[in-house]
Amino acid sequence: MSTPLLRFAPSPNGHLHLGHALSALVTWDAAARLGGTALLRIEDIDRKRCKPEFTAAILEDLHWLGLSWPQPVLIQSDRFDLYAEAANRLRDMDLLYPCFCTRTEIAAASPGTDPDGAPLYPGTCRHLSNAERIARLQRGDPVQFRLDGQAALARTGPLSFTVIGPTILDRPQIRYARPERWGDVVLQRKDLPTSYHLSVVVDDAAQTITHVTRGRDLEAATDIHVLLQMLLGLPSPYYHFHRLMRDQAGEKLSKSRQSPSLRDLRAQGWTPDDVRRAGGF
Ligand code: GLU
Repeated sequence: MSTPLLRFAPSPNGHLHLGHALSALVTWDAAARLGGTALLRIEDIDRKRCKPEFTAAILEDLHWLGLSWPQPVLIQSDRFDLYAEAANRLRDMDLLYPCFCTRTEIAAASPGTDPDGAPLYPGTCRHLSNAERIARLQRGDPVQFRLDGQAALARTGPLSFTVIGPTILDRPQIRYARPERWGDVVLQRKDLPTSYHLSVVVDDAAQTITHVTRGRDLEAATDIHVLLQMLLGLPSPYYHFHRLMRDQAGEKLSKSRQSPSLRDLRAQGWTPDDVRRAGGF
């Protein structure tokens, strides 16, 4: 069997907090137990929210925690052409369609919510005629591209993936994927030739990741990743979903909840061992 390869893939849209530290520690710990290597990937496709100074701070915080990784670090913003190429392959299969809807229009017509609680896409633009699509594209209307979920699933048939847990050394278990609960997801955003889902799938394959370690908050999104892997002919890694770090109110730590950053904690005198203990290591 090839050497296990894992990855930690933060988005540099703020400073790391204890939740990120837990995810990083789980990844490096799993790599050590498997006799493998943890890679670093910077998921900075969002050009408005991601900043180079946050990337620099992430590297410094991870080094402070005592973690290291092989070079080069994969930087997603260097790879837009590869994501566009993957999108074009789906387009050639007739699985991508242009969508001109605004958030307000989607919310008003949505038939329910996706696993993240966001309004499900009502499918409005799936029914546009070709002539209408061309006219609106030529007019320069802001456009995003969605995966036709039903057509995609008709091609692949039922899908499953392999989960390992609660520890990384447990026996793999097969789980059915349910991409249909996400509706027609956006694969190329209005401002970008890609999306989180597309880039993560392309890069897990490009880095030949064998084990994806990620928080339980990304468990449901794996349905879409498995669907994209099958459509693009990419291998599907093992998945390990780890617990999330919660604050006193029981909420997941996040920047929007103003969870203290690792640098704040460090300034208060925390040591890397304190962080490990807080993460249950
Ligand atoms: N970049 C994602 C995040 O910061 C994690 C990537 C993944 O595990 O798919 O939440």
